[in-house]
Amino acid sequence: MKSVLITGCNRGIGLGLVKYLAEQPISPKYLFAACRNPEKAQVLQEIAERNKNVHILKLDVTDFERYDEAVKYVESVAQEEGLNLLMNNAGISSKFTRINLVKVEQMTGGFLTNATAPLMLTKAFLPLLKKAAQNNSSNPFGASRAAVVNFSSVLGSIAENSQGGFYPYRASKAALNAITRSMSVDLKSDGILVVSIHPGWVKTDMGGSNAPMNVEESVSSIMKTVASLNEKHTGTFIQYDGKELPW
Ligand code: NDP
Repeated sequence: MKSVLITGCNRGIGLGLVKYLAEQPISPKYLFAACRNPEKAQVLQEIAERNKNVHILKLDVTDFERYDEAVKYVESVAQEEGLNLLMNNAGISSKFTRINLVKVEQMTGGFLTNATAPLMLTKAFLPLLKKAAQNNSSNPFGASRAAVVNFSSVLGSIAENSQGGFYPYRASKAALNAITRSMSVDLKSDGILVVSIHPGWVKTDMGGSNAPMNVEESVSSIMKTVASLNEKHTGTFIQYDGKELPW
């Protein structure tokens, strides 16, 4: 992978992904780490200082008007390489939200960040994803050509929902899964792979301190899985270790 963009890189799994990729013996030539407040992203800034291939990008994924700026920046740095891998990691969750507590703003907010933004950001980066797919057309279908990885959650699985609640989070991740499937169909002929991934239950601000996995375990497993994705995986819902999950 020559060129990778990850959203939500100032903390949690996004930050872990940047750190992991930056420290690999063969790191991407261009690693774009997007976050909404780069000036406050101390650890990310330190990683970028140590690794000149890390380019920090200011991006609030719900600020759709500014996507064009982000695309132009990536294009100006990566030039002919385009974009091999877009990781739509930024996401929000709300509290448990039983039926009597759920609010309109939680539903619309969840959909905006967790479903609409990954779709619209992929749309904005399509010319660069297509460019990478064409440039690397001799590589097998997968992340070394062009791929979109949408960070979903097992909580978005309708089949696995036996606990109820979590309306905004579950519904927005289920919507993201539907988006993954449609994009995988629409982009297959362009040579772009699309999957939904559940990163595991991970110790982050979102996952909480009781989560069984730490960020390092999750991201190394995710990246090994992403590197092994091929044509048969496009349009599927998988977890960090590659195991397929029910929709
Ligand atoms: P965190 O809450 O720790 O971090 C969320 C990240 O998303 C932050 O960097 C945050 O930035 C960013 N973000 C939120 N809204 C926006 C926005 N509008 N624009 C740009 N960035 C934004 O979450 P995790 O790292 O744990 O989760 C990462 C992904 O994995 C999410 O999509 C989540 O749903 C998914 N996931 C996580 C699980 C877990 O157990 N941790 C389990 C299943 C799925 P800021 O600091 O500016 O708010």
